Amino acid sequence: MNIQGYKRKLLDIEKNLVARRAGARDAARAQVTDSPGDAADASVADEDESGDFTEGELDDTVLEQVRAALRRIEDGTFGRCAVDGEPIELKRLDAMPWTPYCLKHQQLLEAAARPKTPTL
Ligand SMILES: [Zn+2]
Repeated sequence: MNIQGYKRKLLDIEKNLVARRAGARDAARAQVTDSPGDAADASVADEDESGDFTEGELDDTVLEQVRAALRRIEDGTFGRCAVDGEPIELKRLDAMPWTPYCLKHQQLLEAAARPKTPTL
């Protein structure tokens, strides 16, 4: 496994996320001083966002995971599932090198996090 390649990738992602977060703060400040009248447009844009996270919150979550992954590279545990210690699929690591879980446990955790649908 090319750990150094993943490390470079993770450091790059970290840099981009930090830069984007700084940019988002500037954009938020700019919006406050904008003239009113764009409110309708803004609410339409909000509805386009999928998932439970706003983009900023999602960035924060990924940033935390990226930093945790960099720590795992130092520890020598990078690329292993945090639940069972099995190797994480390489395709998965290539797509998101910060993931701490193999596909199976990612799916189990997502299923557990999902609120139960009440039976009617
Ligand atoms: Zn696992």
